Amino acid sequence: MKHVLIVGAGAVGLSCARAALLRGHRVTVLEQGAIPNTRSASFDQHRLIRYQYGRSVGYTQMVSDAFGAWDGLWQDLGEQHHHATGTLGISLEEGDYISQSRVTLAQMGIDHQWMDQTAIQRLCPQLQLPAHAQGLYTTTGGVLFADRIVLGLAAWCREYGAALHANTAVLSVDIERGRVHVATGVLDADQIIIAAGAWLPGLLPAYRDLVTARQAVCYVEAPPQHLAHWANGPCITDIGPGDNYALMPVQGTGLKFGSGIHRRPGSPSEGFGSEPDEGYAVIAHFAPYLRNAADYRPQRMQVGYYVRDGVDAFRVEPQGKAIVITNCGGGMFKFSALMGERVLACVDHEITPEHLQHWAAGHLSTTPLPP
Ligand SMILES: Cc1cc2nc3c(=O)[nH]c(=O)nc-3n(C[C@H](O)[C@H](O)[C@H](O)COP(=O)(O)OP(=O)(O)OC[C@H]3O[C@@H](n4cnc5c(N)ncnc54)[C@H](O)[C@@H]3O)c2cc1C
Repeated sequence: MKHVLIVGAGAVGLSCARAALLRGHRVTVLEQGAIPNTRSASFDQHRLIRYQYGRSVGYTQMVSDAFGAWDGLWQDLGEQHHHATGTLGISLEEGDYISQSRVTLAQMGIDHQWMDQTAIQRLCPQLQLPAHAQGLYTTTGGVLFADRIVLGLAAWCREYGAALHANTAVLSVDIERGRVHVATGVLDADQIIIAAGAWLPGLLPAYRDLVTARQAVCYVEAPPQHLAHWANGPCITDIGPGDNYALMPVQGTGLKFGSGIHRRPGSPSEGFGSEPDEGYAVIAHFAPYLRNAADYRPQRMQVGYYVRDGVDAFRVEPQGKAIVITNCGGGMFKFSALMGERVLACVDHEITPEHLQHWAAGHLSTTPLPP
């Protein structure tokens, strides 16, 4: 049995904690805020899980594996925090990301449908698309109820013996010795896992130049005639040049719009408030593709921060007695349960640090990983 100490109680840190407990390790989690921390990137009503990963066989395979990892969590929690709305990626140009995703899914034998504009409009009457639009539809994928997941994970980890310390900021880490410093003293561990999200640059000097981004998404009130279309339809991705996406209002959650264009460099020290008319700016990215676009109203903004260096590849870096998980960007939530499993497989020497690193960067497509 090892003492595994985890910095950060977001989806990644808590998933590592669960995986470590399942393997019989002693687990300590240190979190600077409340557990869960409503400021963390992991805390929101929902996050999207979808198959569309362009040409990347590695990440597409990871999505398949992620579904299996989530099923394991639902079994442990005794409830499923996922609603399989299906997902629909919109292709507006030949060779674009969604067209590439179609080729990858076909190569990998993953079930999907390629739709023309008429079929898309039948499935999603709230959309208004040009005649050349095409759609990549999968019945798998949809909404992960993020806040319920982190709450459930934290409760499960506590019940199974993890020591979860809220309001306990890690001030520095001695990676070689396996030691962390907190305000009240030091803690030693056999293995440290650092899942500090957008706060990592302030914690580890070697990572101080990482680029962090502010992403604000908007909860939206749809016009009454389209409420049922949103509630019963698939989650929508990659609609328009901003890779815009919409998460469906299911099981008590709201309709949410996000846009890649509405992201800018920023760090948590800037705060979590929204800017005037920010919601209208997010809706404007969708407006060309919505029927009755003028009747959509912003309800509230949700602001989050993450590390994103422009290369959409996760960085999982074993070094000394620590494993640092970073560059999670706007796509790690869907993989967090799986990430916990793989990181702990490395801790227990079932896979090498090199394999873990390459797999996380999307370079390996085989599963299970070779030893
Ligand atoms: C607006 C938005 C939309 C997104 N949409 C999606 C999506 O649809 N699908 C998807 O898969 N992903 C999505 N993501 C990305 C995903 O949510 C994140 O990549 C993921 O939640 C990161 O989890 P994490 O645990 O690494 O980081 P976080 O959830 O940020 O957790 C890090 C935790 O570490 C704590 N911490 C930091 N420093 C210290 C310290 N020194 N001591 C103690 N504790 C510390 C923080 O307080 C925080 O609680 C989105 C992200 C945002 C912001």
